[in-house]
Amino acid sequence: MTAVAGIPFVEPLEGLVYGAVDRLSPLVARVVAENPSKFTYKGTGTYIIGRDDVVVVDPGPNLDSHRTALERALDGRRVRGIVVTHCHSDHVPLSYWLAESTQARTYGFGPHPRPIGTDALDDDDDGESKNTGDGEEREHTDFDFVPDVAVGDGQTFLTVDDWSLAAVHTPGHTSNHLCVHLDAENALFTGDHIMGWSTTVVSPPDGNMADYMASVRKLIARSDAVLYPTHGNPVRNPAPFLAAYLAHRVERENQIIELLRRGPSTIRAMVEVLYADVRRELHKPARRSVMSHLLKLYDDGVVTTAVDAPPSMRCIWSVVDR
Ligand SMILES: [Zn+2]
Repeated sequence: MTAVAGIPFVEPLEGLVYGAVDRLSPLVARVVAENPSKFTYKGTGTYIIGRDDVVVVDPGPNLDSHRTALERALDGRRVRGIVVTHCHSDHVPLSYWLAESTQARTYGFGPHPRPIGTDALDDDDDGESKNTGDGEEREHTDFDFVPDVAVGDGQTFLTVDDWSLAAVHTPGHTSNHLCVHLDAENALFTGDHIMGWSTTVVSPPDGNMADYMASVRKLIARSDAVLYPTHGNPVRNPAPFLAAYLAHRVERENQIIELLRRGPSTIRAMVEVLYADVRRELHKPARRSVMSHLLKLYDDGVVTTAVDAPPSMRCIWSVVDR
């Protein structure tokens, strides 16, 4: 949510023209949708991979302007596949139109799991944001999207001309989040797993911080030459960027432990301290982020809740004495 101090090489998206085709490499071009927000930065970057035969990654939001821009950018070229990194509403909606109009198949890890029952992790009503709409606080999810082809981690699922795409499963932002590797340029399309401008939202219960940090480590262990996030500019020197990205999470985790060493606390109170320098409108998503850290630390046996209280947005947390 917040721009990450200390993460190097974040290029601002200056001079961006919505709907224009940015040529980023011999095989990769991008069209940015005009849906700027605190979740999407300047907007959703839809990637077009290939020459005459192309694959589209994250077609983007249902905006007439973006659909027209994509149509123009594709310019009658043959769409051989549509990749969806995950099912948030700034990524999926135009895939229905694109699949219908091109007969191309959609590829993804799988549908987004539906939430089960009511959820104590969701009980974060602060009475402040009733009329801002859920979309202001949370990314909307398309639970109905089911990819035509479900691809598994490590699977090379599409070959076009002299290049291929392979799946890299990166759960964390969502459990079904997929990154995609382009072999010919050793490039990784990172969706929302790695953003080019900020940290990623990890919101329980589907968002999972333990998985997320493991998925960042998974990319650290790779040697991709460039990362193409759906939001923000390409990351052309991934190693130090990813190291700083992970360090930011480890640091936040340590801050939470330190805070709880001073005494038991609620998420709400912790956010007041940890995000003191962040605009109040961001405190609600920040509480979800702190929750995701606490759930990880709870599973690790580092923190616990007040006697017999299951983890929830409202319970009291403390450090386990060891
Ligand atoms: Zn997302």
